[in-house]
Amino acid sequence: MRILLTNDDGVQSAGLKALAEALLDIAELVIVAPERQQSAAGHAITLHKPLRMNPAQIEGLDIQPYDTNGTPADCVILGILATGTPPDLVISGINAGANLGEEILYSGTVSAAMEAVLQELPAFAISVTEYDCPKFEAAAQFARQLVEDWQYVDLCDGGFLNINVPSLPPDEIKGIEVTRLGKRAYVNEVTRREDPRGQPYYWFSGEAQELDGGEGTDIGVVAAGRISITPVHFNLTNYDGISRLEPLVERLSG
Ligand code: MN
Repeated sequence: MRILLTNDDGVQSAGLKALAEALLDIAELVIVAPERQQSAAGHAITLHKPLRMNPAQIEGLDIQPYDTNGTPADCVILGILATGTPPDLVISGINAGANLGEEILYSGTVSAAMEAVLQELPAFAISVTEYDCPKFEAAAQFARQLVEDWQYVDLCDGGFLNINVPSLPPDEIKGIEVTRLGKRAYVNEVTRREDPRGQPYYWFSGEAQELDGGEGTDIGVVAAGRISITPVHFNLTNYDGISRLEPLVERLSG
């Protein structure tokens, strides 16, 4: 199996290396990753400047990765269309920090998996819950298991999997659960300061406010020490809204 690996933490991130090492002997790997940190880059692609893709190096790893000056989604497109044979599977991660609930809309990690789906390839995104001192071993082992069992994965009509693994030693992981996205508001404060020239600048921040972290949610499951697998697709249509808007359309047409 040929697998394209990418991420949003940059080509030198320990999570990408851990993922590559876990898969090295069971798959043919192609690595295309951003040259620097692209977390929260979302699904942006680069259309207005030259994209560069150059051979790079990850210390202690025997595969030659490519780094790019583009976004995670750019990396997926380049990895599929510009590195020879297209891959059979795209994996994005292992991200340092969880991607839960609506965070996936901002996440470069998750957007890379979504871009793979747009390119009609199966994909999963994988993250660990800790940003500062992430433990990647359990997630790397799980990614390997999943790749070995990939034939049993039902992606259900063009979807992908968003996986979050608690940042715990492998023997402390308490199980695996299929989940729905929870809800957690994140950026709810804007700090305004002045730069040395007296011009204002703004910084987004805030405390995570859990709005739905209950049973069956990705948020609740990782908090309980289990691995969360959320099947995701990108159809954002609000189907209830179609009939609810009909009276308005009649009014506007009348
Ligand atoms: Mn990241």
